[in-house]
Amino acid sequence: MRTAIQGPIAETSGAAIAEQALRACVHCGMCNATCPTYQLSGDELEGPRGRIYLMKQVLEGAQPTRLTLDHLESCLSCRSCETTCPSGVQYHRLYEVGHAVVAEAVERPWRERMMREAIRRITVAPSLFRLAAGLGRLFRFVLPDVVKAKIPPAVAVGARPTVKHARTMLMLTGCVQSAAAGHFNAATARVFDRLGISLIEAPEAGCCGAVSQHLDASEAARAQARANLDAWRPLIEAGAEALIVNSSGCAAFLRDYGDLLRDEPDYRDLAARVFAMVRDPIEVLENAPEVVARRPPAAPRVAVHEPCTLQHGLKLTGRIGALLGRLGYEPQPVADNHLCCGSAGAYSLLQPQISERLKANKLAALNASQPAAIYTANIGCWMHLGAGSPTPVRHWIEAVEAVL
Ligand code: SF4
Ligand code: SF4
Repeated sequence: MRTAIQGPIAETSGAAIAEQALRACVHCGMCNATCPTYQLSGDELEGPRGRIYLMKQVLEGAQPTRLTLDHLESCLSCRSCETTCPSGVQYHRLYEVGHAVVAEAVERPWRERMMREAIRRITVAPSLFRLAAGLGRLFRFVLPDVVKAKIPPAVAVGARPTVKHARTMLMLTGCVQSAAAGHFNAATARVFDRLGISLIEAPEAGCCGAVSQHLDASEAARAQARANLDAWRPLIEAGAEALIVNSSGCAAFLRDYGDLLRDEPDYRDLAARVFAMVRDPIEVLENAPEVVARRPPAAPRVAVHEPCTLQHGLKLTGRIGALLGRLGYEPQPVADNHLCCGSAGAYSLLQPQISERLKANKLAALNASQPAAIYTANIGCWMHLGAGSPTPVRHWIEAVEAVL
């Protein structure tokens, strides 16, 4: 598509990112076929091609309206359109630029602003999230259904191995995950310990920044990214081999630090180094000779929910199922595997109707084969699907640990 970006955005580094995506798009509409929101609505402006067109108009000088913002914010940022696009359009990079311009120009009512900021603050601070979850469990009976469904169950964390191996890898423990599902991190550390690798954490590292970035707080996202990089720098220089991130949403966002900090020369090189170091645990375990089943799975019939960030962000489709199959599990086929479950960060709170429809479709697909358990790879999907699933939802690392 020909394009001529105008206004203040034309003077920024975001213009080049947007221009690259806009020029690559040939407007064929193939992406609409795999877009969850287009599939639900059949509305061109609720699909990637329409949203690209809306962003193009605004970036070329048109005044955005509340409707423009609504069409952009019903997008799940699932990136299914990127996997489908034959022209290699990096929709998510265009979206970060285009959405920021629209969100800046369209004033939100104060109530909406407060809600978004409250969600952001509770999510990025594990102590606040822990407190809110604890209170939520206590007063569950008075809460509206949409909030009730967001309260994670209390799960015992289990022991963490001590750091004792010469081989070390960094681990991001995350914000919500460290508060709501510490057992994912503990299980990951135990499995890596069996491989002779100690997972180490930088205590000053925290939220990856994705939630802030998606809730109009770009400066807070950049500050979180800088703080993480500063915390990891000495450990990387001391020889950490990789950065293990067992929540695919965080891993995909960490790989975008280069874009996020593109105007900050002090961090550019380190962001590129971190990009190369980020690993979902599957990328290590699938090649590790120590990962062999020492006992058969108690209940082998399972379904694997592959989060959008794992499939379309990290491009790791099929890898978890293949490892579980090697370990004696029987992963069942899942219809429409490429479609989002509706979790998408804060999306399930901000767009509950679309989110619930997608969740119902996803749970029906996952449960169709009557698996004993559903295994996923992202904290948000775990919380979202776990609320309402008749089958237990777990992190896939727990399935690996159970047979090692
Ligand atoms: S498939 Fe790619 S090129 Fe075609 S409309 Fe969608 S984004 Fe543009
Ligand atoms: S990111 Fe997902 S929801 Fe958004 S336009 Fe692309 S396919 Fe549709």
